[in-house]
This record gives sequence, structure tokens and C-alpha cells, in this order.
Amino acid sequence: MKLVLLGAPGAGKGTQASRLAEHYGIPHISTGDIFRQNLKDETPLGLKAKVYMDSGLLVPDELTVELLMDRISAEDCENGYILDGFPRTLGQAHALDSSETVDACVDVDVPDELIIERMSGRRVCPACGEPFHVKFNPPVKEGLCDKCGTELITRADDTLETVEKRLSVYHEQTAPLIDHYLAQGKLLRVDGTQAVEEVTEAIVKALDEFEA
Ligand code: AMP
Repeated sequence: MKLVLLGAPGAGKGTQASRLAEHYGIPHISTGDIFRQNLKDETPLGLKAKVYMDSGLLVPDELTVELLMDRISAEDCENGYILDGFPRTLGQAHALDSSETVDACVDVDVPDELIIERMSGRRVCPACGEPFHVKFNPPVKEGLCDKCGTELITRADDTLETVEKRLSVYHEQTAPLIDHYLAQGKLLRVDGTQAVEEVTEAIVKALDEFEA
């Protein structure tokens, strides 16, 4: 299954993609995680991306599309993948359409006010990328990753000012993709305000019904 997860930053795409990847046994591909890894490794790509990421802007399509295409051509993507954070512009969606046929696009719908509350409580594991939230998805041991035990951190782009910028970028550049996938008859909408487990169940149910 080739799946696109759409939704505002902080809608829970990362958390859901990770759970769905486990459920379906296919890789979770996050362009944000790939950029962050490049940043950590101080690669030329990471250093270029940092300027955009730190100010809440999108990394230009020229850098993002090739990176994603390269990743999904890997052997572990043979049976499909879950895209989290790609495509984010119509240009990226058209680039994806030109070489891949995705099965469905799930829009995880969350109102802006809740997004702001959620993002301020977000924590992430700097070692394995696992996402958490102090209130909505806390780790078993406070401040430590459930998967690998590393101390959790707050992302640099989760500050209020950057969150607001990222939300406005989402509405301008990414929200039009809802219509793009609707026109292709592939859009499934899920209420992302529910508990983490309920959102996953709603996505799996929507996909089951869609494929039936
Ligand atoms: P995320 O972890 O998906 O919220 O991504 C963090 C940041 O990485 C975004 O705010 C962008 O600056 C950049 N980024 C991630 N995915 C993309 C993409 N598909 N297109 C452009 N920029 C991206």
C-alpha cells in the first residue's frame, strides 16, 4: 500500500505514520526526519535545509523531490510506504504523480487552536525520531524515549512564532492538496482530535472500507 498522510504540522501525522507502518509492515518515510538527520550529520543538504526549517518555511521542491524519490526507490519500499510530510506543495504532488500511483491520501483533520496547544507539548527522541507529547502521548518514563531510552527534546521549530508561521504556510501551500486528492477520488478524511489509538483505528477502518 502506498499511502500519503496529509495534515497540518502537529496534526499527529508522525505518530500515526509510525503506528500505521507497524500495522501494515511498510516503511514510514518522513521528509522532515530525513532533513533533520542531514542536519545532524551536517551534510550540505542539511545545512541548506536548516535555513528554511528554522524559520518555519518549506524547503524548496528542487531539494525535496529528488530526496524523496531517491528514498522510495529503495528496496524496503517495494511493498509500499507511508509518506509523512510529503507532498507539501502541488509541485511535489505532481512530481509524485508522474512516477508513482498512490493508493490513498488520509487527511488528519485538526483545528488550528488545538494544533498550537499540541505543538507546544511536543517532544521527540533525537536518536530514533519517535514522537511524544507531554499530555496526549506521554512516554512511560517521563522525559525518556519508550523505544530506545534516549532523553527526549523539544524541536527548535516548535516555538510559538515558528508554529504560527508553519500553520500559515500549511494553509497557503499544503491545504490545496486536499482538493488535488479529492479530484483523484483518493481522499479519506479522519477526525484527528480523537485519542491517538482512536485516530489509528479510524484510519485503518477508512482504508479497509476504501479498498473493499
Ligand atoms: P516536519 O517534521 O514534517 O514537520 O518537517 C519539518 C520541516 O522540514 C518543515 O517545516 C519544512 O521546513 C521541512 N520539510 C519537511 N518536509 C518537507 C517537504 N515535503 N517540502 C518542503 N519542506 C519540507
